[in-house]
Amino acid sequence: MLPWVVRRTRLPLLSVRCVGCPSESATTGEGRFRVNANGKLLDVWLLVRCVSCDRTSKLTVHERVPVRSLDPAELHGYRVNDPELVAARLLDPLLARRNRFTLDWTGAWRLDTPAARLDGAWPVQVEVVFEDPVPVRPDRLIAQGLGLSRNEALRRIKCDTPLRRTTSSGFAFVVMAGD
Ligand SMILES: [Zn+2]
Repeated sequence: MLPWVVRRTRLPLLSVRCVGCPSESATTGEGRFRVNANGKLLDVWLLVRCVSCDRTSKLTVHERVPVRSLDPAELHGYRVNDPELVAARLLDPLLARRNRFTLDWTGAWRLDTPAARLDGAWPVQVEVVFEDPVPVRPDRLIAQGLGLSRNEALRRIKCDTPLRRTTSSGFAFVVMAGD
């Protein structure tokens, strides 16, 4: 079984319309939260910046939640702009739904394939693992990983996963010998 790993190389951009200019792309940049305490209630936002005009906007992470309901370690992470927490919140589908943006993964990920050559004993079984929830089309990913055209790749593989449906879940396939 050959492992292939999909992982991010940086944080994805956000596809979201800017209110100040025609751009539809924003970035978390260095990754900053803003925490606002109002009595015993807290608001937490993740700040994002338009890539074109630099206008900053706030994505709601927590809205008027009791201070006690937050894990102290998590709250500390918000206060110190913990990069892992920035990534976790940005990649959380709940945040995207709540704040109406989608992630733009273009150029923000890579596929790592082992150096083992595919000219040994056929068939070869490959397992694709996702370290980050990058949406990929299996047929394109497989063609890329095998270094084949999509048609050639499709001729040579057997796979139970729908190949044209975008997924971020692991899957496996078998590569048959070429002609
Ligand atoms: Zn803008």
